[in-house]
Amino acid sequence: QPATAASAGARTLVGVCAAPGVAVGTLVHWSDAEIVPPELASGSLSAESRALDKAIAAVDAELNSAVRAASQRGAIGEAGIFTMHRVLLEDPTLVDAARDLISLGKSAGFAWREAIRAQIAVLGKVDDPLLAERAADLRDLEKRVLRLLGYANTAARTLPDEAVLAADEFTPSDLATLDRSRVTALVMARGGATSHAAIIARQAGIAALVAVGDALHTIPDGTQVVVNAGEGQLAYAPSALDIEHARSERLRLEGVREANRLTSQEAAATRDGRAIEVAANIATLDDANAAVDNGADGVGLLRTELMFIHRQAAPTVEEHRQSYQAIADALAGRTAIIRTLDVGADKEVDYLTLPPEQNPALGLRGIRLAQVRPDLLDDQLRGLLAVRPAGAARILLPMVTDVGELVRLRARIDSFARELGRTEPIEVGVMIEVPSAALLADQLAQHADFFSIGTNDLTQYTLAMDRCQPDLAAQADGLHPAVLRLVAAAVQGAEKHGKWVGVCGALAGDPLAVPLLVGLGVTELSVDPVSVPAIKARVRNLDWQQCRQRAQDALALESAQAVRALSTAVWPLD
Ligand code: PEP
Ligand code: MG
Repeated sequence: QPATAASAGARTLVGVCAAPGVAVGTLVHWSDAEIVPPELASGSLSAESRALDKAIAAVDAELNSAVRAASQRGAIGEAGIFTMHRVLLEDPTLVDAARDLISLGKSAGFAWREAIRAQIAVLGKVDDPLLAERAADLRDLEKRVLRLLGYANTAARTLPDEAVLAADEFTPSDLATLDRSRVTALVMARGGATSHAAIIARQAGIAALVAVGDALHTIPDGTQVVVNAGEGQLAYAPSALDIEHARSERLRLEGVREANRLTSQEAAATRDGRAIEVAANIATLDDANAAVDNGADGVGLLRTELMFIHRQAAPTVEEHRQSYQAIADALAGRTAIIRTLDVGADKEVDYLTLPPEQNPALGLRGIRLAQVRPDLLDDQLRGLLAVRPAGAARILLPMVTDVGELVRLRARIDSFARELGRTEPIEVGVMIEVPSAALLADQLAQHADFFSIGTNDLTQYTLAMDRCQPDLAAQADGLHPAVLRLVAAAVQGAEKHGKWVGVCGALAGDPLAVPLLVGLGVTELSVDPVSVPAIKARVRNLDWQQCRQRAQDALALESAQAVRALSTAVWPLD
């Protein structure tokens, strides 16, 4: 990308793109000093207790207005995050733990901080990414309540125009208190592309770069920088020419985004007529509306984990049905692929009394949970089968390893359908996210209606790299040739039996991956709702025959970097 490449004089740090965009600005270190309240209470027990109640109530009100403001701006995902924070804030175990400490003579602030930390310690033992996010949410609530208890250094930072904010990692409340009109990019030393800060940045259209490393902290405050998030670069000490190029690039990208939106409601096909469905990954009804708004052809992955956590008991059949029906209605005729529960042996789900696991990523995850708690899955399947019209919902099974699991589950689904008096068949798909499933794809395809490749887990398990480990964020790349060969194997297996293959992992929304996935025979890409317009536009610029040839070339390469270089050379980014 010669238009934005930094000149030789500029120094660069490399990170991972969390929200695309190009920005020029002044680096500001967003200090995130820990707040340590005094341990002992200064007032009476009841005064400390009242202070805590008041602070919690005030935070709740703050969050409520954050939800409303975000909804009004159309930032649906962000509204969802703050809604979740309100739920966490009301968690009786948290508040009770804090009260117990107050009754031992601790200050309200200390008690709150300890109660939060105890919960984080529990979550820290589990490597489910959703739960890792919960820990970040809790840290955020810790700060909010402490600030309202008067402990925080709330001196409002005056930001320069065009601030590029740097931090180890941002929390949603950091971002909520910012003057966004002044922020042009976020850069994090740690963090992942799926963190809440990344989601907020994407929805706000602010460029964001994560996993830049500790070198970020050595760049002095006030340094002028150029961020090219799409290319994973932060250039400091850029030349005047670099800056000028970056500014014009930014304007050009804004124009492209606008143009993509104009055609986002139309179906996408390559120039030579290969139709590619571009669907959305969602978790809530709000997301479903965002998907429709952004032109998604359907929902390629509804993650249902949110239905199960933060409750006292598992959802009933009727609760399942209602949630899915509301989403199906919002999709107005588009299809939703609904994935069955995919949590591990996590402690967050209080009513799941599962034994702790040494290695939850390799434990009772996904469909394996049914081995110990079949009732959870059965109720979910019954709810799913009741969605109307019959074709509105398809079932997707996570973490399938071999055909035996699929055959058993299909039989179960069929018997529930009979029980419900349902005569229409329901499509059942399999997630290809474990290497064994990709290798046995031809066997699975005999019994599945479709495949959806979960490249997040498929990459993790193929490369033996934890998807939540920030130091591996750059290496755990789904464009690794080994992962692509498994994608190819999955498609070949499916095609043998005339079944279709989609991709619902984050790779589907990576513009450099799109031509290769399409070239390997994938016909559906399921991405973040906000990414739908750009991915449709990308598809429309491709030539399928060329994609097919070049994808074969990519399979012979030796590294993910080599694959990225090939893709960038053949299909330059916008
Ligand atoms: C995946 O593994 O790629 C996937 C889509 O599922 P999740 O990210 O929910 O594990
Ligand atoms: Mg997965």
